[in-house]
Amino acid sequence: GKVDHECEVLVLGAGPGGYSAAFRSADLGKSTILVERYAKLGGVCLNVGCIPSKALLHTTSVMDEVKTMSKHGISYGAPKIEIDQLRGYKDSVIAKLTGGLAGMAKARKVSVVRGLGRFLDANHVEVELTQGDGQDLAGKKEVVRFQRAIIAAGSQPVKLPFLPEDPRIVDSTGALLLKSIPKRMLVIGGGIIGLEMATVYSGLGSRIDIAEMMDGLMAGADRDLEKVWEKFNAGRFENIMLKTRATKAEVKADGIQVSFEGENAPSEPQIYDLVLVAVGRTPNGKKIDASAAGVMVDERGFISVDNQMRTNVNTIFAIGDIVGQPMLAHKAVHEGHVAAEVAAGEKSYFDAKQIPSVAYTDPEVAWAGLTEDQCKAQGIAYEKGLFPWAASGRAIANGRDEGFTKLIFDATSKRIIGGGIVGTHAGDLIGEVCLAIEMGADAVDIGKTIHPHPTLGESVGLAAEAALGHCTDLP
Ligand code: FAD
Repeated sequence: GKVDHECEVLVLGAGPGGYSAAFRSADLGKSTILVERYAKLGGVCLNVGCIPSKALLHTTSVMDEVKTMSKHGISYGAPKIEIDQLRGYKDSVIAKLTGGLAGMAKARKVSVVRGLGRFLDANHVEVELTQGDGQDLAGKKEVVRFQRAIIAAGSQPVKLPFLPEDPRIVDSTGALLLKSIPKRMLVIGGGIIGLEMATVYSGLGSRIDIAEMMDGLMAGADRDLEKVWEKFNAGRFENIMLKTRATKAEVKADGIQVSFEGENAPSEPQIYDLVLVAVGRTPNGKKIDASAAGVMVDERGFISVDNQMRTNVNTIFAIGDIVGQPMLAHKAVHEGHVAAEVAAGEKSYFDAKQIPSVAYTDPEVAWAGLTEDQCKAQGIAYEKGLFPWAASGRAIANGRDEGFTKLIFDATSKRIIGGGIVGTHAGDLIGEVCLAIEMGADAVDIGKTIHPHPTLGESVGLAAEAALGHCTDLP
């Protein structure tokens, strides 16, 4: 058949995994084509994920902090929210970053073919070209021939089949559109994404209920970290319903009426102006005709890979959300680099000792490496050091001393194997713990590292000192 484009490396999908792979591939001298359906590069993370959510979270965290200033003798009036302008700010953040990516692609001579790609065989992808922002197919098809391919087609929100179609029932993408500020909102799913959006909307003044099927929020985090978040937020949310599932929703004149079942279900159905469904994400593996290339996709849509990001087909790689948990941008980026390097003939491996997770809630909750729960489940003997922020001068000066920093050490090797932080900026602070784990540091290494005083980061050194049984009182 006819071939419109040829390259050494084709990357399918321009999210964090895909653009990182394409840029690395081009830097290694390979002719590279990036196939992306939407007009803007950056995938879920830049357009409808990590970045827009943080633009909004920053805004609402400043609003929240301003409210507490009356305790310091500084008062402001009630905020006046111009929602179009707030949305504009969020969109300008996205535009800056996605525009930057387009420039980087150009500078590296990575060609972008815009359209919906699917495999024809192990050396050809057919792209149905899209127009506008990528929602509309143009009907025209082009074929790309490649030597190696890297699949980075990502994931999308899981839908709940019993929910009707209605503009007031949204997923995270819909919630980030910020069409209006609902009076009453229901968040179905108490994971990171649901809680971040709940934080944003409650900051904007919505009354929020959260329904979570499991017996705890923020699955994956140690309970002691999550409990601090829960205590701090006890008054912030209307009703946090654990072990409770939404079972039915009906469109009524005055809102969406939702019925619940479970331990903490309200006896009556509740009416909401907005319902956010945040019950997980599903990989796009079944939508790209991978089988035409001989690539195996499991029944859920995941593609399995080895530690060089290779699928069962030697010349085809896969990275990011489509290869499995954790579905996080930083994991996708590192996998993308490995795939591009191996595709270019280098001996690289994905061999991370830790992949951090962060709930960008208020306070933030961050953890890396093994959690205490995992150590217990796996029978790993561990020691821990904990530094409460109630003893941190900086946390007290900030008026936010509810948090703590915890480090976990292997009882035999004494090396750090995990850590968790709850408190303001925990997501930024966890980076040091990540590095310590990768470097195989022990408590002496971390405790003897001079940290700047007074900072929140100091709490990492002091948690190590606590593990060594040293006094952690600050002057
Ligand atoms: P994606 O970002 O999903 O990109 C895949 C790309 O492939 C998309 O652009 C898609 O259009 C394109 N594509 C798919 N199929 C085709 C096809 N057939 N043809 C052409 N193009 C195709 N992660 C974090 O690390 N930190 C966070 O703070 C964070 N916050 C988040 C907040 C929200 C609300 C959400 C939803 C997610 C968040 N995530 C966060 C997760 C993060 O967005 C994902 O892990 C990350 O985007 C995955 O990258 P990826 O490259 O695998 O795929």
